[in-house]
Amino acid sequence: MTLLTVENLTVSFPGRSGVVNAIEDVSLSVSPGEILGMVGESGAGKSMTGAAIIGLIEPPGRITKGEIRLEGSRIDTLPPEAMRRIRGRKIGAIFQDPLTSLNPVLTVGEQLIETIQTHLKLSKAEARTRAIDWLRRVGIPAPEARIDTYPHQYSGGMRQRVVIALALCAEPQLVIADEPTTALDVSVQAQIIALLRKLARETGVAVVLVTHDMGVIAETADRVAVMYSGRIVEIGTVTEVLTAPKHPYTAGLMASIPRIGPRPDILSQIDGAMPRPNARPEGCAFGPRCPHRMEICSQQRPELSGTKTKSVACHLTEGVPA
Ligand code: SF4
Ligand code: MG
Repeated sequence: MTLLTVENLTVSFPGRSGVVNAIEDVSLSVSPGEILGMVGESGAGKSMTGAAIIGLIEPPGRITKGEIRLEGSRIDTLPPEAMRRIRGRKIGAIFQDPLTSLNPVLTVGEQLIETIQTHLKLSKAEARTRAIDWLRRVGIPAPEARIDTYPHQYSGGMRQRVVIALALCAEPQLVIADEPTTALDVSVQAQIIALLRKLARETGVAVVLVTHDMGVIAETADRVAVMYSGRIVEIGTVTEVLTAPKHPYTAGLMASIPRIGPRPDILSQIDGAMPRPNARPEGCAFGPRCPHRMEICSQQRPELSGTKTKSVACHLTEGVPA
């Protein structure tokens, strides 16, 4: 069974010389309990994809093509009020900076209790017990006492734990986590990633994990979608994609994690910058940076194709040469 299906999703913005597609033809699916990583450089469209799923594209941006379905029902066409109910109840969110997700003038407990009571039919006392439980589950020490304190009284890592509790406390089926550890100290990052993975396994919640860090993907995700310049260029199980990357861009990203990359030589081959959405080259958008570019690459855009477990958008039919 599929929980989330995204098909041919395109998000466009009005530009100075016409409409610009921030993301184009993004298709993916997520099953219950699965962690799908979305990886790529800043500006590749990962966050935009996450924002579209959760109904938070900032106007004048809008979905101009495609569909988003949760349990088979369209959610991209819902009115804002209905989407607001889905957010929180069915889809939770965790963002990079915990301070933007937490209200500074309410205690942590007030925020958790309000979210729990908005979405689940529980009395205040029951919601408070549930909130303390969640604080314990995310590793907040002495939750009975901490529940009545304010977000600024927590460290960055502890605040992100609270944000995770807030995203999960209404028992959503899906969580969008956008760079959940990027703002944290390196030592804390691994703890938060481990916590997310543990809670996903325990609760069965599906996670779309947006990150620029292939190392985080390797440690957390079941499947991974690699994005480049608004499109998915490779998608598949983490095992397949990480052990045998088929797209030259994926191979380059892999090589940038020393503890995983088998071929450190590839890193130097992705010098250069991703094109702006209004200046994508003809054919393959990765072409100008690709060490394997062929004639066809600048003429024809490679479409995603492959098997059920792995697809690649590249004209190299055999993948990156060894
Ligand atoms: Fe490189 Fe061509 Fe594949 Fe694009 S399609 S990644 S340019 S080989
Ligand atoms: Mg982003």
